[in-house]
Amino acid sequence: MTGLFLLFLLSALGLALKVPRRLIWGILAVVWAAFVAAHALFADPTHPLRSMIGGSLAGWVGLGVVAAIVLAYRWGLSKLRARAAQPAPQKPQAPFSDAELNRYARHILLREVGGPGQKRLKAARVLVVGAGGLGSPALLYLAAAGVGTIGVIDPDTVSASNLQRQVLFRDADLGKPKVFAAEAALKAQNPFITIRPYHRAFRTEIAADLLADYDLVLDGCDDFDTRQAVNRACVAAGKPLISGAIAQWEGQISLFHPASGAPCLACLFPTAPAPGLAPDCAEAGVMGALPGIIGAMMASEAIKEIVQAGQSLRGTLLIHDALWAESRRINVQRGADCPVCGPPAQ
Ligand SMILES: [Zn+2]
Repeated sequence: MTGLFLLFLLSALGLALKVPRRLIWGILAVVWAAFVAAHALFADPTHPLRSMIGGSLAGWVGLGVVAAIVLAYRWGLSKLRARAAQPAPQKPQAPFSDAELNRYARHILLREVGGPGQKRLKAARVLVVGAGGLGSPALLYLAAAGVGTIGVIDPDTVSASNLQRQVLFRDADLGKPKVFAAEAALKAQNPFITIRPYHRAFRTEIAADLLADYDLVLDGCDDFDTRQAVNRACVAAGKPLISGAIAQWEGQISLFHPASGAPCLACLFPTAPAPGLAPDCAEAGVMGALPGIIGAMMASEAIKEIVQAGQSLRGTLLIHDALWAESRRINVQRGADCPVCGPPAQ
């Protein structure tokens, strides 16, 4: 079997010289073909060439078939491995998971919201100033509605007197910063959204940077100076502001946005009320469900603004008197000499 020895020697030499495997297999195939040809050409089994190679025609052909089967098997295996090593083809990134589709199904059914509106809600970034009576329901409904990014800024901690109306907080939250208690409650309500808590007061110095990250602002804080600071920042940034206010049994809400022709807060209330004329909730009291009504309306107006549905409260101040269960709308216009948004463009 000198021929077999020659094949073995060629393989060993090829491996030792680090010749590529394919080339070794190629040389072996050529030599094997020559052996087969020699056996086929020289019928005489005692021919010196045949005796030097050794074996028989059937033996060499059989060896070739076995080698071919082994090679074919290895080739198939390497193909399978290559396919397994490839990353699974990526499913195109669906805008919503099945869990989200179920969660927002009642929105998606609405003609005015639908899939495109729900996508807008997911992409929306809303800042809520004040996590108090108005902020509580507004935040809860914005989170439940699937507003993708919600910022909440408030410097206060939860106190016992808040719990009569600030439904975002539990008894166990007493003493905690409101924004962190809010973050926990909202994430528990909807884990598919992002909450950004800012445990600080809204100040003019940080306003521009803060508003740059948001498309829409809701203000429900109970401090006139802060409300004016939020208004100035929104006018400067050209962003719509949904503003709510409550006292005792009466609440009001409007959408301020000079950039789209609506007045700003300062057009309606250019100066701070005289001391004692507009007492806050701590002094005058407030009916517990009133912020629920006005706060939920703020969330409703925000959802409408984001999905571009219906008619907004631009240029309209809506006043709700809960004691008489009456609502009325007042048309409001930009002030010609408003200190914040200036004269309307001609
Ligand atoms: Zn104005």
